[in-house]
Parts: sequence; C-alpha cells; structure tokens
Amino acid sequence: MTQDPLQTPIQFVAGVGPKRAELLEKLELRTVADILYRLPRDVLDLTQVTPVDQLTEGPVHTVRGKVLDRESRELANRKTLSAVLLECGHKEFVRGVWFNQPWMLHKFRDYEMVLFSGKCKQFKGRWEMSHPRVQVLDADDATAHGGMLPRYSLTDGLKMHEMRRIVRKVVEEFAPLVPDPLPESYRKQEKLIGLSEAIQAVHLPANPEHYAAGRFRLIFDDLLEFQLALGLRRRAWKLRNRAPGLVASAKVDARIRRLLPFSLTNGQEQAVREICADLESGHAMHRLLQADVGAGKTVVAIYAMLVTVAAGYQAALMTPTELLATQHWQTLDRLLANSRVQRALLTGDLTAAQRRITLAGVNSGELQLVVGTQALIQKDVAFGKLGLIVIDEQHKFGVVQRAKFAGGDSLPHTLVMTATPIPRSLCLTQFGDLDLSVMKELPPGRQKIWTSRVLTEATRKKAWQFIREKLKAGRQAYIVCPRIEGTEADASALETFQRLSTHELAGFRVGLLHGQMPPAEKAAAMDAFRAGETQALVSTTVVEVGVDVPNATLMLIQQAERFGLSQLHQLRGRVGRGQFQGYCFLFTGTAEDDALERLQALEKHASGFDVAEADFQIRGPGDILGTRQHGELPLRVADLARDQDVLLLARTSAFQLVDSGTFDSPEFAPLKQQVLTRFGQLFDLAGSG
Ligand code: ADP
Ligand code: MG
Repeated sequence: MTQDPLQTPIQFVAGVGPKRAELLEKLELRTVADILYRLPRDVLDLTQVTPVDQLTEGPVHTVRGKVLDRESRELANRKTLSAVLLECGHKEFVRGVWFNQPWMLHKFRDYEMVLFSGKCKQFKGRWEMSHPRVQVLDADDATAHGGMLPRYSLTDGLKMHEMRRIVRKVVEEFAPLVPDPLPESYRKQEKLIGLSEAIQAVHLPANPEHYAAGRFRLIFDDLLEFQLALGLRRRAWKLRNRAPGLVASAKVDARIRRLLPFSLTNGQEQAVREICADLESGHAMHRLLQADVGAGKTVVAIYAMLVTVAAGYQAALMTPTELLATQHWQTLDRLLANSRVQRALLTGDLTAAQRRITLAGVNSGELQLVVGTQALIQKDVAFGKLGLIVIDEQHKFGVVQRAKFAGGDSLPHTLVMTATPIPRSLCLTQFGDLDLSVMKELPPGRQKIWTSRVLTEATRKKAWQFIREKLKAGRQAYIVCPRIEGTEADASALETFQRLSTHELAGFRVGLLHGQMPPAEKAAAMDAFRAGETQALVSTTVVEVGVDVPNATLMLIQQAERFGLSQLHQLRGRVGRGQFQGYCFLFTGTAEDDALERLQALEKHASGFDVAEADFQIRGPGDILGTRQHGELPLRVADLARDQDVLLLARTSAFQLVDSGTFDSPEFAPLKQQVLTRFGQLFDLAGSG
C-alpha cells in the first residue's frame, strides 16, 4: 500500500522538527494536508504600495511608513483633530488625520511600521490622508520587500516569518502532488482554477486576483463536497425508502376541510399540495415546512395526519414540550369531537397503567392518531402501522441527529416544522437534505406586532400603565423572565411573580408558569390562562414555542438582552394571534451597543425571515439552531456566515450533478470517493454511491 504523501505528519517536513510540530499542533495543524488547506487570515498587499513621490490627488493609494509622531488637539469648532505622522522614506512624510476619533492614536506605537490606504491631498506642502484604512505591520512584514504577504493565525512561540517559511516549504514541495478531483470539463463550466494552483495561489499569491481565485476554489470545493453528500443522502432516502402511497381523494379532502374553522391561506394550500404529492408518491416524504411564527403550521400538519389516517395508517405528532403537546391535543380533540378517529396523548406524565394501555394501542395500530413529546421515540414505543410523523417547532436537531433517527429501512413519511424561519444558508446545510416548503404569508387580519425597547424607569412606568389598561379592557399578558429564580429580581420568574402581585399588577389575577413545576401544575396554569381566569402569566421561556392563546395581546420580556433574536421573535409570536393588536415590550437595562442594536432589529423587522437573517449576521451560525455548527459539520475552509454566495452556487451545482446522474459517471469517481471519505459515515451514506 502506498502512503498518501499529503498525510505526512508535519514534523517530518524538512525544517520543522518535533518542537515546532508541537506548536503547530496547538493550531490543529498535524499533517501536510492541514497546512495546505489552512487559509491565511488575510493577505497584506504590498504590491500596491505607492512611493511618496508618485502620490496623486484623487485615487486611493497605499503608503508604508514608520510612526514618528502622534498628536491630538481641539479645533476652533470644538472638533478634535488627531494626527499620525509617518516617515515613508528619506525626508518623505505622510500625515493621517482623524476628526473626533481621539482613540485612534492609541492604536499606534511609536516607530512601528504601518500601511495607510486612502485618498490623499496636499496640505501645506505635505501629503495628508483623511481617515485612512490602517494595517499595522508586524516586524516580519515591515522588512518585507513588496509582494503579497499571507498572514496566518499564530500561537505563542511561533513567529509569522517562521510560519510563512514552513507553509512555503510545504506548498512548494506538496502542492504539485495534490490531485484534482474535479473533471476538467466541469472546472471549465464552473470557471474554477486547478486545485494545486489554487493552493499555491492562496499561500504564495502573485496578485489579489490570483489569491481570490484560489480562495474561491478551495471554499467552493469544501461546500460542493458537503452539498453533494446531502444530495446523495436525499437521493438514497428516496430510493431506499418506499413508503405507502397515501392518496387524498376529493371526498377525504372535503371531509377534512369541513372540520376546519377557517379556509386555508394560499401558503397553507401550497404546502398542503406539496405534502400530498409526497404522500402519494410511493417514496417517503422528507420535508421541512418553514414558516413564520403564527403562519398556521398546525393546521397543515393536521391535514396531513388526517389524510394518513383516512388511508388506513397511523399518524404521530411530536412536540418539544409537554405544554405544546397538550395544546395540540386539545385542538385536535376539539376538531375531531364528532369523529371516530382513535386518538391518544402520550407524554411523560402518564401513569404506568395508562402508558401500558396507550402503548398497546400504538402497537396494534388501533390508535390512529398520537400526539406526544420525545416520549414518542422511546425504545418501548413501537407503532404498528406508522404512515406519517410530524415533528413540530423543531430547532434543536441538526442533520446528523436526524440521520440517526432515520436508521431503519421502513420509514414513515416525515414532516419537520421549524419554530422560526431559519436563515437560508443554514437551511441549506443543517436541513440541506430535506425538501422545502415555505409559507411566507400570515392568516388574514394579522397586524404587525408593535414592538419597542423599554430602557428607562420612566418608560417602564408607562409600559406598566399601558398594560394595566389593556388588562382592564379584557386582554391578557405574558411576562417572560430569563430564569426561574436567582439573585437578580427582574430576571427571576418567582420574584417577579411576587412583586407584580403586590405592585405593578396589584388587584389583577396573576399566574405563574415555569419548567420545574410538575406537569399537572403546568397544565393547570396554562388552562387557567387560556380560560381567562388569570389575566397575566409570569413565566419562563416554557411559553416560547407554539403556545396559542388568541386573547393574549401583550408580551413583556424582562432582561430581553439575554435572549437570542429568533427566540425573542418566537416569544413575540405568542401575541397578536387573534383579532386584537399585539404589543411586545423589550425591557432591558443593558448599555451595550451590541445588545441594543440587536433589540433594535426586532423593532425594525416584523417578518421572522428578516429577523433570522439579521440574527445570523450578528451571531453567526453557531448558536442559532442550538447546535455546535462547526463541531458538527466538518467544513475545511468555508464559513457559512461569510460564504453564503458560494454556498448557493455550490448547492445548485451539486444538486444538478446528483439529480442529472452526471455525478455517477466515471470521471466523477475521484470526487465521489472524496465525498464518501469526508461525509460517508456522518451522513450514513454507505451504499448510496
Ligand atoms: P404556527 O405556525 O406558529 O404554529 P399556529 O398553527 O399556532 O401557528 O396558528 C396560529 C393561529 O392562526 C391559530 O390561532 C390558528 O387557529 C390561526 N390560523 C391558522 N390558519 C388560519 C387561517 N387560514 N385563517 C385564520 N386563522 C388561521
Ligand atoms: Mg406551532
């Protein structure tokens, strides 16, 4: 067996040795391939440095020089002027100036080398740049003579010039040995440079265009292979998983619609059509329903479940919380009051005897419709004839977890419904192997939920006054706290409950709901609120998903800065679900600009789709889905927040390759091998090549 030279441990590369290898290990650089594929942080472009005697007014120039002098003073018009004087050559100087940014001076140290980029002007016989872009050069860059200098992340004890030398050596020796898995015709079509050239371009760039082309190729490959894996997984699912054809006849359709208290929106109609086409296709449905909070996903799920039951199969609805399971159960039970559909609620708080009876019905197939929590997927739950599983308000399972979920051969149709819209690029990765239905529209008569940050004591008082008036007019309010208990009074639901009952909401009927109450008490608190017996409900985020009380129009969130944007949007979605205008107050004591800006995004965006994109830009992919994005998806160089455009290109290309069958031709064999090596195990792709 021949060794793959790219897997050579880095310490065996000439000039590295065990000591440096240890330092590189800290950067997770262990093999030659690790080095080749580690993108520089950025590249310093010294090819563009203009000598001072060639500066001109008008275009943007870059100059390089040593910091000689720094000063700050107040001008007559009360502005501060800060200036840094650079020595760029013998008796050649350029001054950078900033207005009202005195802190700029602290970015510099005397005698260090920097680059200024900007437009220059002659002022009193000297070149001046106003608000130039600054790059500080470290000692190694400062002495470099021109060229494009890649800059790498370092660790203590490893200097930039050493790192550059190691990378250069590795690239010169090994880049030419890297085989290109992409067929040439495909490369031409997608306008991609060769792989070994790309690696050289990234680490030893000749010019900015060269660097950009190399970087694009590496990022594109990374995302292409990932999307190909998802494409294969989707295809395997379809081929492998024959599923019962569940046909919704006109008669069944009419019967279902008669049960519903309203007619469907266009978005719901379209989703129902797409789902019905899947159900009757003979292949297992594997679909994600994306919609804004309050768009009416539940009724779409109910429709699909009733089609399934009518066709003689069992349908199950799984929710993330008991509250939500109970609520869906009540909705279904109400709709089906006069029908013979055999149904049951399966949650964690059934008695052993109840559970035994329910499980027997599930197993025999006698129970046609089952609603439940995770309790539904426990080992002892075996459906006799499961045709459809709907997973509601899901945002915690990533691709990988679902892969395990879907282990066996005889799979039911699966419909996944999101809790709030997911940013497009995350959708194409975390849920990238699912078919997608999108409902952008809300049911008729919904207003924008009036949303405002509440920052001061005075506005707090006004907000409470407003809430009291609305409660007197018959509406209801949620007061959400980030914690159950704790030292900070307004973060704690228990303390808030105590205080409101005697202060802000004295004389009103106030309820309490949190996750550590026993299930029966939770259900009672929710029932009391739903029935209007309590007017205000102090709670934790247990009301976060799905809870539906149309008369509740007020949402007050304490310490709002502690929540993520999508979570706040989801919470806000609890109100404004009926005929009355909804209001959301975001109480916060924070002075942090970042946090205030995030909360402002909620004032600005009404649509969950817009909120999701804003959230993604601010927080990055990591937290949004409650999964550790990068731990879970082994991407080599791509960054989902940064590389969204490339992702879209790679997605389209990958799915075309898979769906057209081109990917199965022999010229793509090396690429397929690569895809299976990287993702085969993770996505359970064995046998799907
Ligand atoms: P979500 O998509 O957030 O799960 P729900 O399914 O809970 O939304 O629906 C939100 C509210 O809108 C519910 O009170 C539901 O009865 C109502 N609703 C759903 N679809 C329609 C419709 N087509 N017309 C009128 N009201 C609707
Ligand atoms: Mg819902």
